[in-house]
Amino acid sequence: METKPIDGKAFAAGLRARIAEEVAGLKASAGLTPGLAVVLVGEDPASQVYVRNKAAQTAEAGMASFEYKLAADTPEADVLALVAKLNADPAVHGILVQLPLPAQIDANKVIAAIDPAKDVDGFHVVNAGRLAVGLDALVPCTPLGCIMLLKHHLGSLSGLKAVVVGRSNIVGKPAAQLLLKEDCTVTIAHSRTRDLPAECRTADILVAAVGRPEMVRGDWIKPGATVIDVGINRVPKDDGKTRLVGDVAYAEAQGIAGLITPVPGGVGPMTIACLLQNTLTAAKRQKGLA
Ligand code: NDP
Repeated sequence: METKPIDGKAFAAGLRARIAEEVAGLKASAGLTPGLAVVLVGEDPASQVYVRNKAAQTAEAGMASFEYKLAADTPEADVLALVAKLNADPAVHGILVQLPLPAQIDANKVIAAIDPAKDVDGFHVVNAGRLAVGLDALVPCTPLGCIMLLKHHLGSLSGLKAVVVGRSNIVGKPAAQLLLKEDCTVTIAHSRTRDLPAECRTADILVAAVGRPEMVRGDWIKPGATVIDVGINRVPKDDGKTRLVGDVAYAEAQGIAGLITPVPGGVGPMTIACLLQNTLTAAKRQKGLA
């Protein structure tokens, strides 16, 4: 069987272009410029790269980008005060506080302080709860991107057996909720799951969100299954440099999976595109346009 790669990079570029078009339309018709505020506390190098990319892509989509870079020793109260200010700012429709936060700041407290209507990361319990009970919610960006790729390539997901490996609040749990919403039969697997390979082999759709390089082997995959590899793992190469690999052994999946997202270039690029989508959705809802 030929295994086809899912080109997340191209899909994300298309999505960003559609978002930019809608933003231009909103400006012209309603005088609305969606605004995204990103708060970065400290100097974590990976977070700095993410925040830079988010700001650049926000501006490219024609949205307003507000960046707040705070020192690593910023007290929790100051971050909460900034969130309160952004909650009240009508030019800001989406608020994202980059995680992880330094130890003196309780991330749960900060997330809880964000107005759920502006919670474009979808991490607030109100949004998690709304998703769980089937109400309109702001949905975490990475799982939203996974579902978009799946629907684009498979059409209806109804009745398919989905196995999600990983149960984090950021990826695994919301991915499972979204698959359930698409009428999949969903299993959530995790570190205590018995016979994980056998569970995975039941999946028409296999989502790996674990954070362990190439843990999912070729013979864990049902022939013809669609594999969504969320993992981003940096591993050493022979020449002393590093390379990125997913949670799935990509080479082993060839000839077994029907479709698979590569790493990099699969799920990764969808995350920021979905952040822009969420900011647009949040702006429209706040203006009563959606
Ligand atoms: P977490 O560490 O929060 O969660 C990992 C999950 O994997 C946990 O539920 C854990 O189970 C489970 N797990 C760990 N080891 C095993 C094992 N041996 N067998 C079965 N399950 C296991 O990670 P995240 O959900 O935040 O991220 C997962 C991966 O996705 C990471 O590689 C991360 O870098 C990547 N990621 C990529 C993004 C993107 O933009 N593409 C965005 C976010 C994350 P338990 O709960 O039992 O401990």
